[in-house]
Amino acid sequence: MSGLTEYGPLSSLPAPTGAVLVLNAGSSSLKYQLLHPDTGEVWADGIVERIGENDSSITHEQGDVEIRETAAIADHLAAIEWAIRCFADNGTDLAAAGLVAVGHRVVHGGRTFYEPTIITREVISEITRISPLAPLHNPANLIGIEAARTFLPDVPSVAVFDTAFFHGLPDAAATYAIDRGVADLHAIRRYGFHGTSHDYVSHRVADFLGRDYDELNQIVLHLGNGASASAIAGGHPIDTSMGMTPLEGLVMGTRSGDLDPGLVLHLHRVAKLSVDQIDTLLNKQSGLKGLCGENDFRAISALIEAGDENARRAYDVYIHRLRRYIGAYMIELGRVDAITFTAGVGENSTPVRADALAGLEHYGIIIDAERNAVRSKEPRRISADDSEIDVLVVPTNEELAIARQSAAVVA
Ligand code: ADP
Repeated sequence: MSGLTEYGPLSSLPAPTGAVLVLNAGSSSLKYQLLHPDTGEVWADGIVERIGENDSSITHEQGDVEIRETAAIADHLAAIEWAIRCFADNGTDLAAAGLVAVGHRVVHGGRTFYEPTIITREVISEITRISPLAPLHNPANLIGIEAARTFLPDVPSVAVFDTAFFHGLPDAAATYAIDRGVADLHAIRRYGFHGTSHDYVSHRVADFLGRDYDELNQIVLHLGNGASASAIAGGHPIDTSMGMTPLEGLVMGTRSGDLDPGLVLHLHRVAKLSVDQIDTLLNKQSGLKGLCGENDFRAISALIEAGDENARRAYDVYIHRLRRYIGAYMIELGRVDAITFTAGVGENSTPVRADALAGLEHYGIIIDAERNAVRSKEPRRISADDSEIDVLVVPTNEELAIARQSAAVVA
């Protein structure tokens, strides 16, 4: 491996006994974090991007040390090997560090998995069997699992599924109105994703409000590069915007979200796109990026300021879809106690939060502009004191949630 390495001052870190290594293996990236499940203390985190290309980028931060490299990382196995070497170079032998678990984010649990699950050969076979439901994600997750078992054979691996939180969705919310035989044969239903985040954030909302989780009716808006909304009634999710795949629902960074399914047929029949081309178009070249060429809200805001009409339209389409879901979930829930924004856009974009809930005073939603403008990494209320519905910003922490669930299941 060649590349440019920048080392900061060496850290003097204690051995991370009791820590969990969380791995999030995406289709061409690997994110990892070494943290303590009880205290949330993070010893190290890193990301390898553009795996499989000649210019994979690698960042590893551990204490005061930051390593940045550009190198050719052939596959996820090489990425994990690289990460383990970074730990070793900084005085942490992961294999001997007393880790309690490696926690893996696994995107699709199908109908089989809805609890954190210790990984065995049988579990790997079952995740493989349901991989066609998430062809870009589950195979990468499996490589991450195999790599962890190879390099850290004595540490139990745990799978935490993105779909798990939504496994009990009411039938009416989980069912697509298509031929039942076809749906059953091919496991077609709405599964929901980002469940670890919706679960974590909605519990933090209850803590913040000092209320019983099971008493609250909530709407959670996870707005990151991927985006999803959920409606949670008395502690149970009753609806969510992502469906059989993470493509349904809100407008996202590069994903279209909801479409007329007839459009897909049109793209094939008339535009002559192949299934793979349509897949790429809808997952990677649509959403905000498809509408204005940018998928980062900071860049989009700058374009809007400069008078770019495509950026303005992209923003308007994004907000329109978001408000449609908020409206639908308010009706589904009947009574709403809290609406919460989370993830990169939700935690940071003052205008998105303001526009998503503008003009809803008659529904008991009043945003306080000053509170909404505050930047903070802490959970906070952005609604006015006389707003019937509490509007909150609560930072998500999927790594901590995965670490906690992994540690709990091996305990
Ligand atoms: P992922 O789904 O990749 O985990 P994140 O939750 O990290 O995504 O969200 C990433 C997105 O958050 C960025 O693409 C960007 O649009 C948005 N974002 C991050 N910081 C800001 C900011 N300060 N202002 C507005 N948007 C932001």
